[in-house]
Amino acid sequence: MTDQTANELPPGAGSLLRAEAVIDLDAVRANTARVGRIAAASGAGVMAVVKADAYGHGAVPCARAAKEAGAAWLGTALPEEALELRAAGITGPILSWLHPVGAPWEQLITAGVDVTAYAQWALEEITAAAQRIGIPARVQLKADTGLGRGGTQPHDWLELVERAAKAEAAGHMKITGVWSHFACADEPGHPSIRAQLDAFTEALAVADQAGLRPEVRHLANSPATLTLPEAHYDLVRPGLALYGLSPLPDVTPAELGLRPAMTLRARVALVKTVPAGHGVSYGHAYHTAADTALALVPLGYADGLPRNSSNVGEVLIAGRRHRIAGRMAMDQFVVDLGDPAAARGVHAGDQVLVFGPGDHGEPTAEDWARATGTLNYEIVTRIGPRVPRVYVGNS
Ligand SMILES: *Cc1c(COP(=O)(O)O)cnc(C)c1O
Repeated sequence: MTDQTANELPPGAGSLLRAEAVIDLDAVRANTARVGRIAAASGAGVMAVVKADAYGHGAVPCARAAKEAGAAWLGTALPEEALELRAAGITGPILSWLHPVGAPWEQLITAGVDVTAYAQWALEEITAAAQRIGIPARVQLKADTGLGRGGTQPHDWLELVERAAKAEAAGHMKITGVWSHFACADEPGHPSIRAQLDAFTEALAVADQAGLRPEVRHLANSPATLTLPEAHYDLVRPGLALYGLSPLPDVTPAELGLRPAMTLRARVALVKTVPAGHGVSYGHAYHTAADTALALVPLGYADGLPRNSSNVGEVLIAGRRHRIAGRMAMDQFVVDLGDPAAARGVHAGDQVLVFGPGDHGEPTAEDWARATGTLNYEIVTRIGPRVPRVYVGNS
């Protein structure tokens, strides 16, 4: 490895064999504190959303970091994600919101996880589980204020809250929260935002008239946390912003006071020269224009890199950006380093920065998203379990 590449290694270097995702927990803490200050200005707390393994960053370490930085609540989509946090010894309020029929309600209630209901079947299953174990469930009700995905439609809302109020009066559950989710908060000024705020106000009024006194009301995901104080209520519910990525098109993380937490890196597995006109990788979707040096990078779509990064994705090697040459394969891809004489400083074992905060000139998750026609959310979340996570900034 040359000194130049050694200098590029982020803190925590030394363990990298094939590839790893370096997760900067100081960044997660700083980002959580940043959204915490924004929320606090409207009197709200933070529910740190750590679903999907904290968007690929590692649920347990990120949940701990977010709590250290002041997040009072944790949020997960799936019940098993909430239970994973409890199994790791994480205390404090946790909400989960996407439960299949037959969810492990008893385990969730016993673990003190707040569960979400937006259908009668869920209220019934939760009631039955609470009766079986003799512990009241902590339940939050979710209204569909216009997203048209999960949540209860306005015409069914009154019946849901009345049944919930009955179950609460019977001692089977405590209704701890009422909440909803935005469709277009990443497009400030979109007319659906105002409509959803109004619908949420109405849903809260109906719940109040039914006698419910929830501890928390919440609506704001990352973009609403950053742009819409009116939506903050008692808690904001950011995910993406905690990991330092921007939820707003054409706004950088730095402009929002955020720092990307994940750096994906690998080591070059092979450098070799090939003649002009040589096909590269499956389907020969790329041919060398001249005698050239190729570098093989041992990461592929099985690790979560999008296959449609073929011929468009970029990485940083020895301080220079290089485009992926040919198809992204399951386990590996190739970059064309160009003139073999100029590439002589690049060797097997050198570091490849796939994406990161951009400090060294490496692409960002945003760059990868733009190149492959998707969102930064998907780029980090899909980095798979075959890529070890290495944590830096552990306090
Ligand atoms: C994923 C999710 C969030 C967080 O969204 P971000 O845009 O990542 O902040 C909040 N609430 C719910 C219900 C979610 O599913």
